[in-house]
Amino acid sequence: MKPPVFTYHRPETVAEALDVLAEVGHDGKVLAGGQSLVPLLNMRLAAPAHLVDVNRLAELDEVAREPDGVRVGALARHARVEHDQAAVDAVPLLGQAIADIAHTAIRNRGTVVGSLVHADPAAELPAVLVLLGGTMELASAAAGGGPRRVAAADFFLGPLESAVRPGELATAALFPAPPAGSGSAWVEVARRHGDYAVCGIGVLVELDQGLRVGSARAALISVGPVPVPVDLTDALGGQPHDAADWAAAGRLAAAAVDPEDDIHASAAYRRHLAGVLTARAARAAAAHAATRLEGAA
Ligand SMILES: Cc1cc2nc3c(=O)[nH]c(=O)nc-3n(C[C@H](O)[C@H](O)[C@H](O)COP(=O)(O)OP(=O)(O)OC[C@H]3O[C@@H](n4cnc5c(N)ncnc54)[C@H](O)[C@@H]3O)c2cc1C
Repeated sequence: MKPPVFTYHRPETVAEALDVLAEVGHDGKVLAGGQSLVPLLNMRLAAPAHLVDVNRLAELDEVAREPDGVRVGALARHARVEHDQAAVDAVPLLGQAIADIAHTAIRNRGTVVGSLVHADPAAELPAVLVLLGGTMELASAAAGGGPRRVAAADFFLGPLESAVRPGELATAALFPAPPAGSGSAWVEVARRHGDYAVCGIGVLVELDQGLRVGSARAALISVGPVPVPVDLTDALGGQPHDAADWAAAGRLAAAAVDPEDDIHASAAYRRHLAGVLTARAARAAAAHAATRLEGAA
């Protein structure tokens, strides 16, 4: 299949891109890595009159370690973040989750910010941003005085729907570093390696000095229209990092999700996976936290 006819724009600066986006408004789409948008065009599921290619905006090609986390610019590809040691040391969940996104070729081209804006309910990074309490930066010619910042909790509105407005360009995502004494894990099940997950989960566990669970949180994908955050502290709080009631955490998560049947899996199977994978990820995150604490001691 071939895409519908569109006018192609290739701005050289962010300011120029914002002017074009303001001009084309509802009729425009940003083209980043093209790994999600181009298939949609070719299948004629999207037909924007204007494509604004942002691949020449060198200003947005950054992965920066900041005092409170990692800032990922809109041109940073999945693979660049995955292999940025400073970034994954600060926010290990980024490396853990990106490793499960598609295949190397797609990670070499697709962008972290593009994945967040695309807001696929089966994508890993929206859950990572929600779990860490991250923020998106959105620029527009109209805003003038600096970017609009949107918290992850308000950014994902529904399947393939995020809070980016016509005329806006997402310039960066900010992933806060989890506190000292914390550990994380990403676990998912897909039908084949590299496929979108049938169910996936990120867990963040914070241990106290006695290596007991202080708090535990999760975010699940493919079990609802947007990532589903679940607080697991009631199930795990106060328990030893290596002998907590992981199955209780799984029951909490399974009760919190409301998946639907589709061609890939039944709702019952996805709910079952939510429970099993939560138990598995919580145990792994607690072990990761203990390793990091011991390493820091
Ligand atoms: C075979 C295959 C398997 C895949 N498997 C997975 C998977 O397992 N997990 C996963 O998470 N993803 C998967 N993907 C998608 C991949 O991660 C994409 O890279 C990602 O979803 C979109 O990033 P992109 O840079 O390619 O965005 P594009 O395809 O260029 O754009 C996607 C959407 O976001 C908008 N957009 C992009 N950047 C911006 C911006 N800066 N500002 C405003 N709007 C913007 C576009 O207008 C478009 O609507 C897969 C893709 C393929 C082809």
